[in-house]
Amino acid sequence: MASDRSWVGRNRYNEAKYLTEEYKSGVDNFIKFAIYNLQEEDNGLIRCPCKECKNKYYKNPSAVKVDLYRHGIMQWYTRWDCHGEKDMSRDEVGTSSVNTNYRDDDMNRALIKTTIKKPI
Ligand SMILES: [Zn+2]
Repeated sequence: MASDRSWVGRNRYNEAKYLTEEYKSGVDNFIKFAIYNLQEEDNGLIRCPCKECKNKYYKNPSAVKVDLYRHGIMQWYTRWDCHGEKDMSRDEVGTSSVNTNYRDDDMNRALIKTTIKKPI
């Protein structure tokens, strides 16, 4: 659930023009993710990936949340690399997944558990 980023690319409003529960919980997950990955030099501010700020501006998490509700998140932004997400497919899994079935590989399973999950 937490790793599902499909909400990013979807319409954030339902037919009644309210924000969908999916979108709101997606934003919550995003904010948590960003806070978790904060660096000391960020001073508690995170980049805002809304359609207005486009990751160019830093805001405090509650302001980012308001922006994401109001403007919407950039719909291509499913890999949160401006918020500390690593490119897993290249770094860790890439070399070993070629000739092994990594789903049954204990070492890789442990690795997947401790790193951030990829969007499905
Ligand atoms: Zn913004």
